[in-house]
Amino acid sequence: MTRQLIAGNWKMNTLPESAAVLAGALADRIGAGGDAVCDWLVCPPFPLIPLVGEALAGSAVALGAQDCHSAEAGAHTGDTSAALLVALGCAHVIVGHSERRADHGESDALVRAKAEAVLAAGMTPIICVGETRAERDAGRAEAVIESQLGGSLPDEGEIVIAYEPVWAIGTGLTATPEDVRAVHAAIHGLLADRFGPDKATATRILYGGSVKPDNAAELLATPHVGGALVGGASLDAEAFLAIGAAARPIP
Ligand code: PEP
Repeated sequence: MTRQLIAGNWKMNTLPESAAVLAGALADRIGAGGDAVCDWLVCPPFPLIPLVGEALAGSAVALGAQDCHSAEAGAHTGDTSAALLVALGCAHVIVGHSERRADHGESDALVRAKAEAVLAAGMTPIICVGETRAERDAGRAEAVIESQLGGSLPDEGEIVIAYEPVWAIGTGLTATPEDVRAVHAAIHGLLADRFGPDKATATRILYGGSVKPDNAAELLATPHVGGALVGGASLDAEAFLAIGAAARPIP
């Protein structure tokens, strides 16, 4: 059975010292043997990836990144290639986070190209989708997600999907369990239609949006929830560990 994935997105937070302390605390507690129930991942800012990789060495906590360029290499000032990330020990890369879609105008086609670059480098993309408040209020949440998935998913390769309602990210608001259940079931169905039932079942669909220790158990017990993508609470080792303690075999 596929295990839930508890992934921390540190965003543009932490400095070298605080990143080492945070990663060290996770490595100490999760250890080399890992967790009986879930997989763990942290995605620090680019420049801290080597330092965090050292702090996690020997533990079962995987290392990831928050973005990459779609090209293999070349004249792309300020960008980072998938090849560099894999060379630094990354196993996963978040692509299409709503903050990048909004702040950098990333389209579904670009997100797909980035996901393909991640796969070509031998890593797993975590492909983010989610509706805005206005889209949900207009009754368009599932249509928006269907369109994002249609444009953002590569045709083959192991992927993780993160459903993150934009209005729930960093706001303290979370989707209701009924909404999460409906959207995750819809995503599972879309995956089954496009890739077949086996791949749909094997693809983890994370929920993200103000996941905290006090709401994790309910969210992680929702059918088709394959883990959590955690922003703010992943910056506090105890809170992040408490979220993982609520993980279970994928319901
Ligand atoms: C995120 O950035 O992916 C996220 C879900 O953030 P938060 O948990 O802070 O809402």
